Amino acid sequence: MTRKIAIVGAGQSGLQTGIGLLKAGYEVSILSNRTGEQIKAGKIMSSQCMFDMALQNERDLGIDFWEKDCPPVEGIGLRVPDPANAGSNLIEWEARLDKPAQSVDQRMKMPVWMDEFVRLGGDLQIRDVDLDVLEELAVAYDLVLVAAGKGDIVGMFERDAERSTFDKPQRALGLTYVHGMKPMEPFSRVSFNLIPGVGEYFCFPALTNSGPCEIMVFEGIPGGPMDCWGDVKTPQEHLARSLEIIKNFAPSEFGRCQSVELTDDNGVLAGRFPPTVRKPVATLPSGRKIMGIADALVVNDPITGQGSNNASKCSRIYLDAIMEQGDKAFDEAWMKSTFETYWSYANGVVDWTNSLLLPPPEHILELLGAAGQVPELASIIANGFNDPTQFMPWWKDPVACGELIKKHMA
Ligand SMILES: Cc1cc2nc3c(=O)[nH]c(=O)nc-3n(C[C@H](O)[C@H](O)[C@H](O)COP(=O)(O)OP(=O)(O)OC[C@H]3O[C@@H](n4cnc5c(N)ncnc54)[C@H](O)[C@@H]3O)c2cc1C
Repeated sequence: MTRKIAIVGAGQSGLQTGIGLLKAGYEVSILSNRTGEQIKAGKIMSSQCMFDMALQNERDLGIDFWEKDCPPVEGIGLRVPDPANAGSNLIEWEARLDKPAQSVDQRMKMPVWMDEFVRLGGDLQIRDVDLDVLEELAVAYDLVLVAAGKGDIVGMFERDAERSTFDKPQRALGLTYVHGMKPMEPFSRVSFNLIPGVGEYFCFPALTNSGPCEIMVFEGIPGGPMDCWGDVKTPQEHLARSLEIIKNFAPSEFGRCQSVELTDDNGVLAGRFPPTVRKPVATLPSGRKIMGIADALVVNDPITGQGSNNASKCSRIYLDAIMEQGDKAFDEAWMKSTFETYWSYANGVVDWTNSLLLPPPEHILELLGAAGQVPELASIIANGFNDPTQFMPWWKDPVACGELIKKHMA
């Protein structure tokens, strides 16, 4: 008999998993609290830069519909501005990615994936899922996956205090989508500016509803000068504040921004949330078990741009585990062990991401400086974004890091 799976949430993980399951012959319902039209006409949600491993999961499912139209992100660059000398940098390097990254505005991507899900025979329901609906789903389906991202409903999955490093937001976040930014030469990149004591500013090319654009991402240390969105009332004020920050704290980026304009009035976002890891299984009042996926269980600060990448990789792991389970029950033991398979990867990503939210230790400053002199080190760091588990152990271990630097310096 065909197995029935319900997924709550039509984002990166929900739709990728739903489409993957349909293609593997499962009967799938996705419940979304917004229609495709609402998502398309709504506010931006992310900067969603995805690296090759994560993009490959989309190619494998035949849902990489924007591969040709989306401008590639060809590299990663780092600058640490010199506070004493506006426009010059204490550290500056860039390196090409072995394979390009891409960012497709989720407002474009998700409505198309929703249509594709329906075209393949999926059942898409527009419903704001609450506890009662979850109970209905748990009776009617073999497995219920909650792919609701940062939605309130994920609060029913208990926070894992041992695996969660922080209990408060570590950055005040701002996003600004613009047209008209001067491209980086000789190759496009995530241009990352690390501003000690203030936060981080980075930008990169992307594709949005109105064509190619650049996304500005602001990561302000709470209470610091980049935590400055509270009094911003209009999209134009948001753009003006974005430019003010760049002029003051990342001045070598300011020249690129002389002709920028917002992609649209919804191309702005400000907010904050605490990076959190949750337990994978929740028990409904009836005693039935449901399972979380992607951000619902492991939500990272966007500083390393890993959330959509993680969602894609988590989805892949869950898909494989569902198929491997065959006709057997999706019981609590299966849910826990499936999540542990994902966690054995995500753990390294969380560790690396969280380390960047704290002031950098001496060995990391040394590494970032050395990468300015040794292109192979810059390349290792840049390509680590594709699979951040490659950063361990040397990212956290000063001795191993010293050895890596010495090896490449030689
Ligand atoms: C400022 C910012 C910048 C980011 N930049 C990057 C980046 O550059 N690279 C990267 O990889 N990641 C980035 N991310 C993270 C990335 O966007 C998320 O990690 C990713 O979208 C998570 O996918 P998901 O499927 O878990 O959840 P989501 O994509 O959030 O999808 C959840 C869906 O569930 C729906 N939903 C919620 N509650 C309910 C309910 N009760 N009933 C029905 N539906 C519901 C929502 O409407 C939504 O459509 C960024 C995030 C932020 C906030």
